Amino acid sequence: MLTKAQRAYNFNAGPSALPLEVLEKAQKELVDFQGTGMSLMELSHRSPAYEQVHNQAIANLKELMNIPDNYQVLFLQGGASTQFAMVPMNFLPADQKAAYVLTGAWSEKANKEAKMFGDTYVPFTSKETNHNRIPKLDELTFEDNTAYVHITSNNTIFGTEWFEFPDTGDIPLIADMSSDIMSHPVDVSKFAMIYAGAQKNLGPSGVTVAIVRDDLLARANIENVPTMLRYDTHVKNNSLYNTPPTFGIYMLGLVLEWAKEQGGLEAITKRNQEKAALIYDVIDASNGFYRGHAEKDSRSLMNITFRVSNEELEKQFLAEAKAAGFVGLNGHRSVGGCRASTYNAVPYEACKALSEFMIEFQKKNS
Ligand SMILES: *Cc1c(COP(=O)(O)O)cnc(C)c1O
Repeated sequence: MLTKAQRAYNFNAGPSALPLEVLEKAQKELVDFQGTGMSLMELSHRSPAYEQVHNQAIANLKELMNIPDNYQVLFLQGGASTQFAMVPMNFLPADQKAAYVLTGAWSEKANKEAKMFGDTYVPFTSKETNHNRIPKLDELTFEDNTAYVHITSNNTIFGTEWFEFPDTGDIPLIADMSSDIMSHPVDVSKFAMIYAGAQKNLGPSGVTVAIVRDDLLARANIENVPTMLRYDTHVKNNSLYNTPPTFGIYMLGLVLEWAKEQGGLEAITKRNQEKAALIYDVIDASNGFYRGHAEKDSRSLMNITFRVSNEELEKQFLAEAKAAGFVGLNGHRSVGGCRASTYNAVPYEACKALSEFMIEFQKKNS
C-alpha cells in the first residue's frame, strides 16, 4: 500500500485526485462488501445493501451542501456534457429564450447544445479577454421572457470562479458546478438547478449529480423528450430507473463521508483557500516571472492558470516539474501555459511542494 509520502503530486484537471483514505476504504471493501460475499460492483442495484449506499450518498450530499427539501438530488450518466443538452430539452420552451453567460469553453459548449433545441442569448461574454474574468453582477441584465439563466460557476480551463451569484428574481438560475461543487458553501436556494460531473470534486468519472428544484421540474416540457433524458424519469425512480453507475455512486458516497470527517464545507473551504494562496502568492511575488491568467478578483480556488515569462522557460518549467514528480501541470490544450488543479482532495503538502518548486525554479532561471 502506498503511504501518503509516496503518492503522486496529482494536479490533474479531471479525473483528478481522490482522498487516499477513500481509496483505502474502497480497497478494503473491494472483494467482500460488508459481509455480502461479493463486491459492491456485483450487487444488484435493487438489493437492500446497494440501496443503502445510494440513499446514504443522497442524504450526505443534502447535509453537506445544506440542500433544502424542495430539491431533488439525482445521479445521472453522460457527464456534465449530457446536461448541456438535457437542460434545454426539458426547460427551454419554444416561446422563450435561455440566457447563457459565457465565461469559458464549457459555457460556450453548453450554449451550443442549447441552440439545437431553442433560442438563446448571451448577456455577457469574456471572450475578448480570453476568458480571464467573471462579470460584475451589474454587468448582467436579462431579457423579459427568459426561460432560465445558465452560468458556469468555475471555469476549469481558464481558472476563473464566481464567488457571488446574480439575483435573477423569478428567472431560474442554473449552474454547471462541475469543477467547484462542494469546494465552498453555496446558498443552494439561489439556484433552480445545479449539476456537476463527479470527476473533479466528488468522485470518479461516470456519475453526474443534478440538484433540481421542484418548481423547475414542474415547468419541464417533456413532450418528445426520450425517457432517459427527462428529469422526471429519474425523480420518480430515485435515480434507479435503469442501472445506475453503482460503483461510482459508492465511491462518491465515500468521498462525501470523507468530506464530513474533514469538518464539512467550511473546513474544506478554509483549506482550499490556504492551498491556492500558496501558489498564487508565489505568482504575485515573482515580479512577472510567473503571470496569472485570471484577474485577481476572479481567480479560481480550484484551477490555477499561469504562464512562465517566456515560452522556452515555460517548456523547461513543465519538463522539470514533471521530472520532479508533479503530474498534470500542463494547461488545457486549447490555451496552453500551466494549470494546477487544487481540488478538495489535493493535499496541502502537494501545493506546498509545488510552491517551493516554483520558487526554486525562478531562482535558478532569472
Ligand atoms: C469537466 C467539465 C465539464 C465536462 O464534464 P464531462 O463530465 O466530461 O462531460 C463540463 N463543465 C465543466 C465546468 C467542467 O469542468
